[in-house]
Amino acid sequence: MNTKPVLWIIIPCYNEQEVLPVTAPMFLDKLQFLVGSGRVDAGSRILFVNDGSRDRTWEIICDLADKDSRILGISQSRNRGHQNALVAGMMEAVDRCDITITIDCDGQDDLNAMDEMVDQYLGGCEIVYGVRSDRDTDTWFKRTTAQGYYKILGGLGAEVVYNHADYRLVSSRVLREFANFKEVNLYLRGMFPLVGFKSTSVYYSRKERLAGDSHYPLRKMLALAFDGITSLSIKPIHLITGLGIGVALISFVGVLWSVITHILGGTVAGWASMTCIICFLGGIQLLSLGVIGEYVGKTYMETKQRPRYIISERTWEKKKERAGSGDDGPARE
Ligand code: UDP
Ligand code: MG
Repeated sequence: MNTKPVLWIIIPCYNEQEVLPVTAPMFLDKLQFLVGSGRVDAGSRILFVNDGSRDRTWEIICDLADKDSRILGISQSRNRGHQNALVAGMMEAVDRCDITITIDCDGQDDLNAMDEMVDQYLGGCEIVYGVRSDRDTDTWFKRTTAQGYYKILGGLGAEVVYNHADYRLVSSRVLREFANFKEVNLYLRGMFPLVGFKSTSVYYSRKERLAGDSHYPLRKMLALAFDGITSLSIKPIHLITGLGIGVALISFVGVLWSVITHILGGTVAGWASMTCIICFLGGIQLLSLGVIGEYVGKTYMETKQRPRYIISERTWEKKKERAGSGDDGPARE
């Protein structure tokens, strides 16, 4: 097989009206370069996924798609979050291309890393992780918490690529297998290593956002971090069991000790020790219940089997409607 791979670059966008006009031409230039350098097929495309933006993002995407046939867009029926937007884009692309690269739309990730990503794919890798070589542009707080978090995840037995976010090349072969992972609690960077296949990493340095503001405040970051742990590892439950056994043993010794002291007649009003024990056990129990509750909650969400994304509009369908033509969209040639 000597045909070139068809690449789809998948870019989630949520309220990005400031940054899109700046970065869209950069993505087009990159695509043109990849085609020009003979790495990918001329039928390659850029797919913007509008994640229920409240500003003019979708209009801008439609406009871009009107002006350049290499740009496509889909719109989610409402805001569902970055991870779901990525899945929507990847599933839209899976049967229409050979490789996808997911990247944020704010220009923080170095587009030039795509060259090496595609080269690695041509060299036989099915997944190529974009890895930040430094965290200089992050605040001290984000840098330290992120690094601590990756260590904890690793310690809990989840396989994640250190300092990799969602800048990633994935072949459609891998995506077809990934489609069988039906969970709704998504933590993509931890799920792809589970799919397997030959993979490698490409290093780049991350820049500041070109415009607009981050949509990942501390609250969302913590939620994603928690999703990461609970969707990849059940070790916390095992830890709780271990803790329970440990505390039970200590309590047993404590009970023996108090009974013996009582028999020997040396008891005094032990208010302090009683209070300590009650507080300690109460705290541990509540904490344990909370952690177990998290998993029960996740199980509940999974059993509902709600769709992970709902696409309400596609730019090529809009075009087709307007032209009244029989154009079926960006199907594979
Ligand atoms: N994003 C999204 N849905 C959301 C939040 C963010 O599709 O609910 C997109 C956003 O447009 C961007 C990417 O996810 O392309 C990463 O978001 P952001 O740059 O705000 O995060 P940060 O880089 O600060 O972690
Ligand atoms: Mg960003």
